Amino acid sequence: MDYVEHVTELVGNTPLVRLNAVATGKTPVLAKVEYLNPGGSVKDRIALRMIEAAEASGELKPGGTIVEPTSGNTGVGLAMVAQRRGYRCVFVCPDKVSEDKRNVLKAYGAEVVVCPTAVEPEHPESYYSVSDRLVEEIDGAWKPNQYANPQNPESHVHSTGPEIWEQTEGKVTHFVAGIGTGGTISGTGEYLKKVSGGKVKIIGADPEGSVYSGGHGRPYLVEGVGEDFWPSTYNNGICDEIVPISDAESFQMTRRLANEEALLVGGSCGMAVAAALKIAETASPDDVIVVLLPDGGRGYLGKIFNDSWMASYGFLSPDAAGGTVGDVL
Ligand code: PMP
Repeated sequence: MDYVEHVTELVGNTPLVRLNAVATGKTPVLAKVEYLNPGGSVKDRIALRMIEAAEASGELKPGGTIVEPTSGNTGVGLAMVAQRRGYRCVFVCPDKVSEDKRNVLKAYGAEVVVCPTAVEPEHPESYYSVSDRLVEEIDGAWKPNQYANPQNPESHVHSTGPEIWEQTEGKVTHFVAGIGTGGTISGTGEYLKKVSGGKVKIIGADPEGSVYSGGHGRPYLVEGVGEDFWPSTYNNGICDEIVPISDAESFQMTRRLANEEALLVGGSCGMAVAAALKIAETASPDDVIVVLLPDGGRGYLGKIFNDSWMASYGFLSPDAAGGTVGDVL
């Protein structure tokens, strides 16, 4: 019989899917579809490795508690692995995080502490302060800290990078990914550069206004990518190029991926594909571009896939109907 003992054994080994409708040039653009991980995102990879390393080092002991300020994909990954191994999970998130997202974490058995959004990070009630205090107060608490944990990029050196190299039989020439903590691009990029003798070009996709593409943290709506500070998980020596992408471009491409490629994915996926297509414009037919799609689209139905929300920001033209995406107003 062919089965696994637990869903966590299914983390990684996600497929590559060629984009045909949105990428019409001769250069293959292959999407690495991370929503097919059991927790629904690329973050399952880092959750597994960060927990295993903390167990090995003794930082996380049997019966311990995982405390992390997260509201999204990393929380799901951590909760999934924690459930299997008998750890308690306490996630701290700001009150701007939707109830739906909090309920997903609770469904996996995690506890969620909600803090006010409208306070400075130093304020005792900010979600950073509260998570630090919980780590002090809870016996056996451990904080993975995805923004500073070297196991975050390391998980991609050991899984995402080798998978892409093997799946493309060493033919990959460009790797494109969004940058949040920088773990994905730094780890995957490090491996692909090393194995190809520096031949694979690494391209970061970044929301306009984020520090990675020279901004100062100007607000943008795409979630999970871009920063207003430089996390230690980002290796500044890996990217050959950073492509800034507007919210409008990101979300319109996200809708096209669902509509034309049957890939219901999140906004940072549309952003990464928009960057990959800019790279494809000047690539040769022998090149092979791999673009990583971090998560699925179900968490964004009320936003990116909602016409009124899109129109309220001017991302949808008034004559667009039936889910088609028009020009930016
Ligand atoms: N997209 C989404 C939806 C994410 O949650 C994240 C993680 N913050 C990323 C992209 C970026 O990945 P990384 O943190 O590895 O740079």
